[in-house]
Amino acid sequence: MQNRYNSSQAQALISAVPEQPAALALRVYTSRLIGAEPGLVLHGGGNTSAKARVTTLLGEEMEVLFIKGSGWDLATIEPAGFPALDLGYLRKLRRLEALTDEEMVNQFRTHLRSAAAPDPSIETLVHAFLPHAFIDHTHADAIVTLTNLVDGEALLREALGPEIGILPFIMPGFPLAKEVARLYESRVSMDCIILMHHGIFTFADDAESAYAKMIDYVTRAENFIAEAVGKKPRPAARSAAKPDPAVLLPMLRGALALPDPTGQPRTMLLAVRHDADILAALEREDAEPLFTTGVLTPDHVIRTKNYPLFLDLQGTQGHEDIQARIGLRLTAYRERYDRYVTAQATAQRVTPTRLDPMPRVILVPGLGLVTAGATAKDAGIAADIASHTLRAKIQGAALGPYRELDEASIFAMEYWRLEQAKLGRTRPQSLSGKVALVTGGGGAMALGIGRQLLAAGARLFLSDIDPVRLGRVTGRLAGEFGPGRVDGLVMDVTDLDSVTGGLNRLVLTCGGLDILVPNAGVAHVARLEDLDAAAFVRVMAVNCTGTFTMIKAAVPIFRRQGTGGHIIINSSKNVFAPSPAFGAYSASKAAAHQLGKIAALELAEIGVRVNMINADAVFGDEAVDSGLWAVVGPDRMRARHLDPAGLKDYYRQRNLLKTEVLADHVGHAVVFFASNQTPTTGATLPVDGGIPEAFPR
Ligand SMILES: [Zn+2]
Repeated sequence: MQNRYNSSQAQALISAVPEQPAALALRVYTSRLIGAEPGLVLHGGGNTSAKARVTTLLGEEMEVLFIKGSGWDLATIEPAGFPALDLGYLRKLRRLEALTDEEMVNQFRTHLRSAAAPDPSIETLVHAFLPHAFIDHTHADAIVTLTNLVDGEALLREALGPEIGILPFIMPGFPLAKEVARLYESRVSMDCIILMHHGIFTFADDAESAYAKMIDYVTRAENFIAEAVGKKPRPAARSAAKPDPAVLLPMLRGALALPDPTGQPRTMLLAVRHDADILAALEREDAEPLFTTGVLTPDHVIRTKNYPLFLDLQGTQGHEDIQARIGLRLTAYRERYDRYVTAQATAQRVTPTRLDPMPRVILVPGLGLVTAGATAKDAGIAADIASHTLRAKIQGAALGPYRELDEASIFAMEYWRLEQAKLGRTRPQSLSGKVALVTGGGGAMALGIGRQLLAAGARLFLSDIDPVRLGRVTGRLAGEFGPGRVDGLVMDVTDLDSVTGGLNRLVLTCGGLDILVPNAGVAHVARLEDLDAAAFVRVMAVNCTGTFTMIKAAVPIFRRQGTGGHIIINSSKNVFAPSPAFGAYSASKAAAHQLGKIAALELAEIGVRVNMINADAVFGDEAVDSGLWAVVGPDRMRARHLDPAGLKDYYRQRNLLKTEVLADHVGHAVVFFASNQTPTTGATLPVDGGIPEAFPR
């Protein structure tokens, strides 16, 4: 592992904010160096601290501890991510015999230098009780690989040298902080402490040395492991079934969805990793016993649960057989999880709020590693942790058998009182865990619909035939909602193969689909006697056939998931109130509308609701042009002798409410249907400001 410390970069950070303590600038710098190394920390793991003297408002000198705040990631941490605490006071806490976690957190909050600071790390007292100015703590892969082996302690001393200190696993909190300080004081030449089943602390009086020691010890562990791996022959591989992800993932996603308190399936998002290393790992002869062991560090439990599910599909014949195998394996997993919670709750005399018993990591030989999470981000974090865990377990196997942490400690972590207290405090958003696809994704309408779906918590896909227009809208939404929540799919809705290919990519990205919004549409202005036959066919192909292909290709996904779903067709006011010179558009929209009603009849048995939104004269965002208005607008303006502003006003004056209809209004209607607020299917909701001749009938 490379030491990335660069003195001139460090100095530049100190000079950038001269009024801030130099120790804090250096602390931010080496914390980011640690965060940039996935072999050291993953997604918010690890924590670092610095001690410094500051002057209070009253001009008094005070010793403070800057410690990583919860919710911050070392890779991107800022000075604001290091709350400062009264160090002199924290040190005095060591006199106490005991301190509950709740009271410890209260002591932190009441001894912060800023009322607005984030909560200090739960490992704050470890940092406070050690005397060093800089302390670095990680769950480095190479270190936890060794701490989870049967001969872990002996191997660690052999790999890292006799100077290190080693402690058995102790829950983070007050007792751990006292034990770490006691161990250090027993031999003050020590510059590194390893916590079995947990991670590593290095410390020094300057930032560069604490960081260099971290890199040095982890590198020693890496080299030691690499040597052992090099000597060990690869185990035999066995052949695996080759399940089709387009079939398996929706089945798995559906089977993982348990009902929420209202009885609706609480779907999760999936992530899939299937690089050559992962596929080879899962085909090892010893894959199942090796990989179904517990976590590398208990921090991972809330992300991945303690055990992955090993889902071997060898010997299954056909879809029903696969579905049955999934059901059996999940039932066994849930029963084991329930037994574990019951046994530990009894032994530890607690009555916990039970967490859902479903696995978060599913290992499928022949397909890869599949993870589940409430959001795409959660599923991705679980996938990163699971990938690192596979690799660590393979490497550790070259040195000896795995020794997992006892279930009592795992339970204490998974059902920690501080974590349990948070449960129920945050209500999930109405569409969290849901996947939505909006076609016609390059236009202004998709921008408004997409924005509202994202605001309601959905994971969004937009599709369009034109990658440039599509990129503009997805880029805009990613800017508003952050990365990883919206993706573009280039596909042609008039071509079933293209649509199926697009949906397969969507399924491989997040496991399935819950909300389909056929929205792609084109217009052509001509009276029937002048209407070009080819133009008519083209309008029918996009507006009508395009709706048909989307429904046809999506139904197998809905069926495999078995969790219901929504089809919400962006129809038109023209279906009830057609206009002259608009024959191709009105006829194609009326046909698509009718398809929606047929779909409502056919799909109710699998819980899929189909509804239509009839919008009129929707104006979107000026920055994203509407394909429809580009065609229709100029003719309408010419016909009515109006400029663009006049056209908007014309449409506003035409409806009962004298209001402008926006793409976001259509988005709100989509979210209304998609969030199951009423038991409605086959219905039409006008979003047009009120146009009497277009009242649904
Ligand atoms: Zn830790």
